[in-house]
Amino acid sequence: METCKYLRDCEFFNNPNTQQFQVLADQLKADYCQGRFADCARFQVAIRLGRDQVPATMLPTQLQWAELIFRQNEEASRNSRPDL
Ligand code: SF4
Repeated sequence: METCKYLRDCEFFNNPNTQQFQVLADQLKADYCQGRFADCARFQVAIRLGRDQVPATMLPTQLQWAELIFRQNEEASRNSRPDL
């Protein structure tokens, strides 16, 4: 099975808040990082906008948050284009 290319140093698993919930972290790792990582909200933001745009506390399950970030990013891009 393919593994997420960000797993080795994913900030999510190095976050002290995540480390407090080891059972949950292990389950998320099995479900997403070592499985369907393309469905991970963190992965989607990292691929589209760069890893520096992934909120530190974002859970792999928080797809609505990822969508909000994409919308805000598109809006910011639109507003920064000069009028023709
Ligand atoms: S699947 Fe998501 S949480 Fe897991 S390593 Fe990749 S980016 Fe990080």
